[in-house]
Amino acid sequence: MSRNDPDIQRAATAIRKSNFTTAYTGAGISVESGIPSFRGEGGLWTKYDPKLLDIDHFLLEPLRSWKTIKEIFYDHFGKARPNRAHFILAEMEKKGILGRTITQNIDNLHQEAGSTHVFDFHGNSRRLVCLSCGAIFPVGEVNLDVLPPTCRLCGGLLKPDYVFFGESIPHIALSAAYEAASISDVFLVIGTTGEVMPANQFPFLAKENGVTIIEINPVESHYTPAITDIFLKGKATEMMENLAEALFAPALENNQDGVNQDLEIHGE
Ligand code: NAD
Repeated sequence: MSRNDPDIQRAATAIRKSNFTTAYTGAGISVESGIPSFRGEGGLWTKYDPKLLDIDHFLLEPLRSWKTIKEIFYDHFGKARPNRAHFILAEMEKKGILGRTITQNIDNLHQEAGSTHVFDFHGNSRRLVCLSCGAIFPVGEVNLDVLPPTCRLCGGLLKPDYVFFGESIPHIALSAAYEAASISDVFLVIGTTGEVMPANQFPFLAKENGVTIIEINPVESHYTPAITDIFLKGKATEMMENLAEALFAPALENNQDGVNQDLEIHGE
């Protein structure tokens, strides 16, 4: 697929004409940054027991849980950098053609790429929260060589500030997702199977409100046969590069200053 592919062109046109585009991302967008997804080939659950992220198990065995959590989410994933797909979304936001990003990911890579209107539906691993007093600490301020980490204010147990199985979704992210489903006219769904409840509902809800669903995934997801309008079959970086070329290159060719005068500027 190239920028001249009819589906890439259709997707670019839909985004250009849209008044509010929402990016809706899952683990797949970060696979090319070196973070495996949970499910599927090479997924985390082929190596680890999902009970690792169960809140009851964490509370029962904080030291044991933290040892594995540190190994996976901090020693290994902590070194991941944003890839071209994250950077292009940030660029689209800057140019005013992407209203917000709702991510199921906990890796902070959208923010590191420069996106600012990001809602972490399942929280964020780069923060730790005290289960006793509620204080929040950036992970860089906490010594993870001593496990389990404790709160420097009250001595309570610290937990990664992402949503464990059995916990509720952060209120702000939930409202942002409902709002996005009602005000968007394009949903750009990247790298998600659509299996995790309740996150998986929002593309369906948005579709009921008449959005165009553009989906990027190397394989079909639950959304593809049901609600996807334009399926860009492939990896996030390659498809986003094609899309970016289709969105930005025509205007750059016409305009020597590099200012994209063809794009309607809108956003939040
Ligand atoms: P998932 O693990 O269920 O599915 C990943 C999806 O990404 C699959 O559909 C797969 O085909 C697709 N994919 C694989 N490689 C891709 C690529 N290069 N480009 C585009 N798509 C690709 O992921 P999910 O639907 O997001 O649900 C899993 C849950 O796990 C999420 O709620 C999330 O919180 C969590 N999770 C987060 C991270 C992270 O923060 N990076 C990593 C793993 C899991």
